Amino acid sequence: MALFLTPLHDCSLNMAIGEFELIKKYFNREELAPPLKGVMGIGDDCALIEIPDGMQLAQSLDTLVEGVHFPRHCDPALLAYRVLAVNLSDLAAMGAKPHSFTLGLTLPEANSDWLQGFSNGLTLLAQQAGIALIGGDTTRGPLTISVQVQGTVPKGKALKRSGAKVGDRIYVSGSLGDAAGALDFVLQNQIPITATHSDTRYLLERYYQPSPRLKLGQWLSQNGATSALDISDGLLGDLNHILSASGVGAALNLDAIPCSKALSNIYGDDKARQYALTGGDDYELCFTWPENKAISLPPSLGCTLSCIGKVTESKMVTDAKTGKPIQPEAFTHF
Ligand code: ADP
Ligand code: MG
Repeated sequence: MALFLTPLHDCSLNMAIGEFELIKKYFNREELAPPLKGVMGIGDDCALIEIPDGMQLAQSLDTLVEGVHFPRHCDPALLAYRVLAVNLSDLAAMGAKPHSFTLGLTLPEANSDWLQGFSNGLTLLAQQAGIALIGGDTTRGPLTISVQVQGTVPKGKALKRSGAKVGDRIYVSGSLGDAAGALDFVLQNQIPITATHSDTRYLLERYYQPSPRLKLGQWLSQNGATSALDISDGLLGDLNHILSASGVGAALNLDAIPCSKALSNIYGDDKARQYALTGGDDYELCFTWPENKAISLPPSLGCTLSCIGKVTESKMVTDAKTGKPIQPEAFTHF
């Protein structure tokens, strides 16, 4: 590794701050890295975690690369929020409770304004979600951010993609397509605070600050959902992961796919539905639920649910109205 990667402390050129000072100031902060029971966090070669009896550790990692996953000169606070949010969403999808995370940060330079903004955005969501930073790695290179999250889930209770049964109802949380609808504005480097129109602002917030459905995920795992995932690449593509892992198909009621007013106002109903079916980055949950079981979500979970169809035996995705297969490609050229 040392042959290819240059640690920050080895190339102090242009560095106003050393690597260890940087970690202490921006990451080993009380609000971001609070002491946790059963955990030894930042400072040694590894963090140490005690896993409570009867629990499993759920782990996931996501990497964002500048110019690939986010535009250059992206606001650092929003970026930090987003990278942690997309990781938390994976925990939500498994029904896991957030525990701790590590951060791999590759920076072209140690800019204090950028680091302060990044640290603040990270702290904001970490505190909201009740998750602590326990370690990481800091190197120099093209801006790349990796977050690895850990969560706990009672043994055998994690929501997997493989549990959907014929007859189950298919649900999604919140509204879909908003983040895809925001993309044009994101590429123009608009941020929520600068957007003048309230619908545009709403879509941008949905893109930059997705709400990981943590409480919903835990509730679903405790109350008998049969499978779940988070929608990161678009409903049709992601639903397919559940269907193929479970060896089933689906009949969808296209009129029931939830779109926000903001999305319909800006793009019209047809295009809004296309975005909702194929657009990524919403981080809502899609799950299956037993046919004969009522679902009543406590209002305290703070999200809406829409039943969008049911699981079928045929290994296809069809339109419930016409019985015809839904071709994802038909929705991607607009
Ligand atoms: P090592 O050389 O053993 O990899 P480092 O010098 O990279 O250790 O890191 C020292 C300590 O600081 C470790 O506990 C590591 O987990 C932590 N750390 C490094 N970078 C970060 C970061 N960006 N955020 C949080 N903790 C970090
Ligand atoms: Mg290291």
